[in-house]
Amino acid sequence: MKKNELLRRLPKIDEIMKEESLIVLSEKKGALLVTEAVRSVISNMRQNILALDEEDMAQLSAAAEDGEAGKAALEKFFRQFETSAVAEAAAVRLLQDEELNLYPLINATGTILHTNLGRAPICADAVKNVARVSRSYSDLEYNVIKGTRGSRHDLVGNLIAELTGAEDAMVVNNNASATMIVLAAMGAGKEIIVSRGELVEIGGAFRIPDIMAQSGAFLTEVGTSNKTKVSDYEKAIMTKEMVASEPWKNDPRGIRRFETGALMKVHKSNYDIVGFTEEASLEELVELGKKHDLPVIFDMGNGLMLDMSEYGLNEPNIPASLSTGIDVMLFSGDKLLGGPQAGIIVGKKKYISRMKKHPLARAMRVDKMTFAALEATLVKYKDPAIALRDIPVLNMIAGSSDDMKAKAGRLAEIIKAANPGLTAELIEVKDQIGGGSAPSVRLDGWAVAVGDGGRSAASIERRLRKADVPVIGRIHDDRLLLCVRTIFENEFDLVAEALK
Ligand SMILES: *Cc1c(COP(=O)(O)O)cnc(C)c1O
Repeated sequence: MKKNELLRRLPKIDEIMKEESLIVLSEKKGALLVTEAVRSVISNMRQNILALDEEDMAQLSAAAEDGEAGKAALEKFFRQFETSAVAEAAAVRLLQDEELNLYPLINATGTILHTNLGRAPICADAVKNVARVSRSYSDLEYNVIKGTRGSRHDLVGNLIAELTGAEDAMVVNNNASATMIVLAAMGAGKEIIVSRGELVEIGGAFRIPDIMAQSGAFLTEVGTSNKTKVSDYEKAIMTKEMVASEPWKNDPRGIRRFETGALMKVHKSNYDIVGFTEEASLEELVELGKKHDLPVIFDMGNGLMLDMSEYGLNEPNIPASLSTGIDVMLFSGDKLLGGPQAGIIVGKKKYISRMKKHPLARAMRVDKMTFAALEATLVKYKDPAIALRDIPVLNMIAGSSDDMKAKAGRLAEIIKAANPGLTAELIEVKDQIGGGSAPSVRLDGWAVAVGDGGRSAASIERRLRKADVPVIGRIHDDRLLLCVRTIFENEFDLVAEALK
């Protein structure tokens, strides 16, 4: 048998397009897309034929001379050359092309703000509001009452101010951009004093010293890794007069100094310093700022709005931190606030308006979809009980060990009913907040440990990842754990299905 012979067997594209299934598909998706898919399948087949080596060809020829068995094998081989088979392959290809790269999955890791899994899942009303606002035109920058141009910054400004006690607010793309614009607007050409214990790296290339350099502000580090006193900040302050006397003339390295622009505190979001430690409190920094007429900036990071200490979360919250008199504070929208990705800046009006006018504001502005999701999330906070009930992140944190045990019991029943061959055992686990927030907090949780007697945990884990709706579990002591804190109750059937 020759390759030419095989190539000649490839069906013609217009013949394939006459297949009933493709005619129907063409009406739905357009003939252009379908023809394209068919062409691509044929071209693949052609390449496969050209790639056959001598041994493959010899095998085909041998089959042709091998009586009944060979004939059957050849028939099977040539089935892929039939128009119906090519049509089917083209339809499958079209479906695959349509599959979007961003899709939902099930988080069974027990880590609530999983950075790799999209951080905070937003609440149902936020999703509804995104659809409502984005499918039509909106008042994003239009004042309907006055019939004049409006500002997108005003959309949630009042609501944030009301909830946090701030004078004004501004929303940007994420907290990294918030840090950047705050430093650029308040510290460009000036020194900003930060404790050496707080020069954090958040992830990726986000390091406070690097962001500071990008913003045009000059970092002045004070204190040590484990101890920084408020007096350390005070000693580092450079006044206009001090700069005018050019003190660097006496510095053997001749390091130029600049006037101090602000004092800055960065929350240790993703690490703890324990042991022999000391840090300046917000209150102390505010007092020092007042004394020297310097603004105090607090990069709070996590965006916790409510006091959640009764659930084991001893983190500062936004209103409490602001009430110390902080001038500018910034945090993420998609960490403990439980909303969409955003960076929220709150504080004194005179500083916030400087940021709104800064050229970077345009580069960092957020879309109507973000405002829609954020506003619908924020209104929940008008009643803390509603926020705890409706915002998934808060709801997951608030779940008690008993709640989790009962939830794990329900999941185990559904798994066993759908998969009689599997074992599903309840075990205690420690869940985490994650997302670079509250690194030391461990929540008492429960998981369903799934086994089938033979297969390894790694093999079950792999299968779950490859399900139609992937389930991301956790392996511990060679057992596959499905931690129920982060699984939504309406996903239980999908988890059972994925295990089939
Ligand atoms: C998370 C975090 C950031 C970065 O916020 P993104 O929203 O991820 O850009 C900055 N500073 C602190 C203290 C943080 O915790």
